[in-house]
Amino acid sequence: MSPSRSAFRVAVLYSTVAMLWILFSDYLVTTLGPETWAAQGIHTFKGILFVLVTATLVFFASRGQLNCRAKQQRLLRSSQERLDLAMAGSNDGVWDWDIGAGSVYFSDRCLEIIGYPPTADVDLGVIWLERVHPDDLVATRQAIRAHFRGTTDRFDNNHRILTLDGDYAWVHARGRAIRDEQHKAVRLVGIVRDVTEQKLNDERLQQAAVVIQSTTEGVVITDHENRIVSVNPAFCSITGYDPQSVIGQTPSFLKSGWHPEQFYSDLWGQLKSTGSWQGEIWNRRRDGEIYPQWQTINAVYDEEGELSHYVAVFADISQIKRSQEEIDFLAHHDPLTRLPNRLLMIERLGNALARAKRNNRRLGLVFVDIDRFKAINDSMGHSAGDELLRAAAGRISELCREQDTLARLSGDEFIMLVEDLAEAADLTPFALRIQRAFDQPFDISERTLHLSCSLGMSVYPDDGEDSAELLKNADTAVTLAKKNGRNTYAFYTQALTEYARRQMTLESDLHKAIRERELRVYFQPQKDLVSKRIVGMEALVRWDHPVLGIIPPIDFLPAAQHAGLMSAVDEYVLRIACAQMRSWLDSGFALQTMAVNMSGYWLQRGEVIAAVQAVLKESGLPAHYLELEVTEDEIMGQGEKSGSVLNALRNIGVKLAIDDFGTGYSSLLRLKSLPVTKLKIDRGFTMDLPGDTNDSAIARAIIALGKSLQLTITAEGVETLEQERLLCDLGCDYGQGYLYSKPVPAEQLEALLRTSFPDHDKPASAL
Ligand code: C2E
Ligand code: MG
Ligand code: MG
Repeated sequence: MSPSRSAFRVAVLYSTVAMLWILFSDYLVTTLGPETWAAQGIHTFKGILFVLVTATLVFFASRGQLNCRAKQQRLLRSSQERLDLAMAGSNDGVWDWDIGAGSVYFSDRCLEIIGYPPTADVDLGVIWLERVHPDDLVATRQAIRAHFRGTTDRFDNNHRILTLDGDYAWVHARGRAIRDEQHKAVRLVGIVRDVTEQKLNDERLQQAAVVIQSTTEGVVITDHENRIVSVNPAFCSITGYDPQSVIGQTPSFLKSGWHPEQFYSDLWGQLKSTGSWQGEIWNRRRDGEIYPQWQTINAVYDEEGELSHYVAVFADISQIKRSQEEIDFLAHHDPLTRLPNRLLMIERLGNALARAKRNNRRLGLVFVDIDRFKAINDSMGHSAGDELLRAAAGRISELCREQDTLARLSGDEFIMLVEDLAEAADLTPFALRIQRAFDQPFDISERTLHLSCSLGMSVYPDDGEDSAELLKNADTAVTLAKKNGRNTYAFYTQALTEYARRQMTLESDLHKAIRERELRVYFQPQKDLVSKRIVGMEALVRWDHPVLGIIPPIDFLPAAQHAGLMSAVDEYVLRIACAQMRSWLDSGFALQTMAVNMSGYWLQRGEVIAAVQAVLKESGLPAHYLELEVTEDEIMGQGEKSGSVLNALRNIGVKLAIDDFGTGYSSLLRLKSLPVTKLKIDRGFTMDLPGDTNDSAIARAIIALGKSLQLTITAEGVETLEQERLLCDLGCDYGQGYLYSKPVPAEQLEALLRTSFPDHDKPASAL
């Protein structure tokens, strides 16, 4: 009931009671009929009593009313205080919009949000809506109207408000309408909160979430016990694991097994002490592939400073590594031909030089310059030029052995490093092969090009001691070659060029020499040091060159070797020697041995056995007359194959001798296992006998060794009687040397043989 209605009821009740009291008391006085004066007095008393009673009632009513109001005010004040405290604590501002009166109350906090001091005299009711961001105004108004209509339980809206410093602050306003009996909103009361910071945080979190979801770097978040709590899509695509299969596990299942335990303990040590770790780590994908990651791990601590999580972010750097390798490759290689470039060539040359110095070997550089390349490049264009360079590089690199290096220095200049040469001329075949590689025309850009190249060579140590000098000299040599007419080669040293040319000429002449029988076989006798009789002959080849005259074997055998003619030479000499021996025996010269030199090259090849058998058969010489000499170097340098060839030769009855003994590195074990029958002490030890004590000691040792192995000993190079005497004293069996005869044609030995075999015309009983 409304207060005015209640007051009206009290007034009606009071009037009724007062009127009834007046009417009843007046009736009672009239009925009793007292004296007029007494009636007068009763009326006065009745009036006073009524006043006193009503005054008493008014007193109590007023006091009760005032007490009640004071209590209400106290309650109101304390609840206002509580509200103010709560608002201050929550940092919210309060507003109260009296819709009927059109006025709005804003608390001080509302002022503060906009930037006014709390004491400012500002009517926010007027300016609040004006300061709402234009983009948010419509939505704010709609939210108010919707709540007024009763569509929403409460008014709830976020909007931006312009602050005094010109920025917008985000606020969250909430309120509820107070409605009258007709449910019409008469007031809207609510709070407003500055949520700018929260909004920014939300935005930041949202951005971070988008970044984590969309980044190409894998992200793993683990709890304080290092169990995975979340992974991002990049983690899944890099590792191949899906989130369900990894959550709850420790990341150790990703380990590659490539790092030692120490690596992980260092990682954890740093993570625990500094809170972060960064570095390269090799992990394993689900499909087993091992790949490199660049990983950053950070420890995350909560507000109390307790470790709560680890966040690991990693990038798959396998592609980068591959690119890095490609960059490294390109730093040392020519991108066009993919051959080593100058830098790598210099590096390899440096190493090769060190090796050559150590092993006392030569090495050579062949500088290749394509003739008239510039003209092709200019006329057909650069892409045709590039195509040609690639094709040329391909052809030249096919000629390289594993230990050689072919590099492209620049433009049309290539260089080949050839290691392990015995002599400078050994480089020539490489140059010739490169030249021959250009014999076939090149098909470039649908055209057929006939090309040639000029080659310049330098050799360590003949033409220089270091890389720079050798490169420069090979370059000079190529200029020389060009000057001599293109499609040719030149050594840096003129003498070498000439020597190499002579070797080449010899090679080509040798083919003719064998065909046209220009090779001669000379014989040198071998004497028994005790009986002083000639016991054998050694066959030694010479080349009777139509222009150069007699060429000693030392000058043409290397060329024969290069030309692949060595076995042809050996077989030729063998045939002549066996035929000659047969003829001497038939003439009654009872020689025991015909020694023939056999090259290591021939020894390596099984067909030597068949060739020897064929020659023996052809000449009719029994096998035991033939003694094959193989130099110590060659016999020791051969593998098992030569052992079996020697055994086969021995089995057919041929004797075997080790030539030039003492100059190589014999393994006694190997020596013992070989089926040899004789050792020939190298001329180098005989030469200074008997004067040189070292040599006589060596000669004595070799003789003693040979004897202990039941081998016959021949000393080469016996030139004096003193030498002969000493060798005889030392127990040497045979001697060979100028003392008895130089190697000479067979017919020149007739006289000597006749003296050695005075009764030669009697047929030899052995035959
Ligand atoms: P070798 O088999 O050790 O032949 C001995 C060499 O020493 C011969 O040289 C001979 O002329 C030389 N000589 C012999 N006695 C003396 C001496 O008292 N004083 C001096 N200063 N030298 C003496 P040659 O004939 O020039 O042969 C050199 C090497 O060529 C031979 O050494 C042999 O290894 C090789 N050779 C010769 N003919 C042939 C052959 O037909 N086939 C093969 N594979 N190699 C051969
Ligand atoms: Mg010999
Ligand atoms: Mg010899």
